[in-house]
Amino acid sequence: MAQTMKALQYVTVGQPPQIVDVPKPTAGPGQIVLKVTAAGVCHSDEFIMSLPEEVFNAMGWNTPMTLGHEGAGIVHELGEGVTEFSLGDSVAIYGPWGCGTCNYCVQGKEMLCPFAAGMGIQPPGLGAPGAMAEYVLIDSPRHLVSLGSLDPVQNVSLTDAALTPYHAIKNSLAKLGAGSTAVVIGAGGLGHMGIQLLAALTGTTIVALDVSEAKLELAREVGAHYAFQSNDDAIAQVQKIAGGIGANAVFDFVGAQATVDLAGKLVRPEGDLHIVGIGGGALPVGFGATAYDVNIRTPYWGSRLELIEVIELAQQGKIKVEYEQFALTDGPEAYVRLHKGSLRGRAVLVP
Ligand code: NAD
Ligand code: ZN
Ligand code: ZN
Repeated sequence: MAQTMKALQYVTVGQPPQIVDVPKPTAGPGQIVLKVTAAGVCHSDEFIMSLPEEVFNAMGWNTPMTLGHEGAGIVHELGEGVTEFSLGDSVAIYGPWGCGTCNYCVQGKEMLCPFAAGMGIQPPGLGAPGAMAEYVLIDSPRHLVSLGSLDPVQNVSLTDAALTPYHAIKNSLAKLGAGSTAVVIGAGGLGHMGIQLLAALTGTTIVALDVSEAKLELAREVGAHYAFQSNDDAIAQVQKIAGGIGANAVFDFVGAQATVDLAGKLVRPEGDLHIVGIGGGALPVGFGATAYDVNIRTPYWGSRLELIEVIELAQQGKIKVEYEQFALTDGPEAYVRLHKGSLRGRAVLVP
């Protein structure tokens, strides 16, 4: 009889996720099974679980869906032909799985793969069974990065909460020299890493905006030079810091209509506006909508090389995930805390 394991699954659309028993995966040729060491809780999961059934299905998803797109584990079983890793290696999962051979994938930018969905390839936790389980199946050694001696619980969220802001920030580095101003909207899982990455990589003055006093306090603790309530008063506050000409770059880790509107008013001519949060907001593009020559981007996750770089930054002690640990079986409670906005940094589940 097949062995079973515990997993946190989204079982019924509109209902909270549940702990269930499912078959333990085995590794086919070229595949790897990890014994999960940690899995991070992302706001995107909540977004997915808030979708009406038609939209959820139209996105290519079906229930039951094992959650967990931020994952780490120990190599437990190697499929035939896998020589890149050894049993017992501690690894992080690169989540945005692509086809592996298109113009984007060969550059390691698998998150941009235009063919994955059509080929039935989905990220673990976003279609393929994810890391909120005792074991997880990895389709290729290409999708693993060694964690070395890094603690997996402390570092699992590098795979999304740090990788995603890193990918966004890297595209604005040339604009963020000393004397520049960067605004981070939303100091949650992604935002608190974005602040640290800006501090580690640039000379910019970092302004954090959030609606929660506790998150503003966290923002200051992890390196924001200023932290203000996220409302229209922030426009004058940022203008004062930025010499009256707006921010060189704005990173919106909320993406709600209120925050994209605010972001559009904060960005200076030739500045960059990154809408990272998937809160359903949209900014009109056209003359008069923002300052002249503004770049507006909607970055998605990050590349394989960028994950290696982010893990290197953690190894150098330049970035550190703030997290609250939960048992896998307490996963539903972690999502309640995420929803309430009462988490400090990331929630990390440990089987
Ligand atoms: P989180 O819940 O940890 O953090 C969200 C933060 O935003 C909280 O601190 C909250 O207080 C704050 N906030 C809420 N409303 C606000 C407002 N009006 N103004 C300012 N701050 C506000 O969420 P997270 O896991 O960090 O994810 C952030 C967003 O990024 C989500 O929308 C998520 O789905 C999205 N996301 C996008 C990508 C991508 O590739 N583009 C990847 C991961 C997550
Ligand atoms: Zn995510
Ligand atoms: Zn591809």
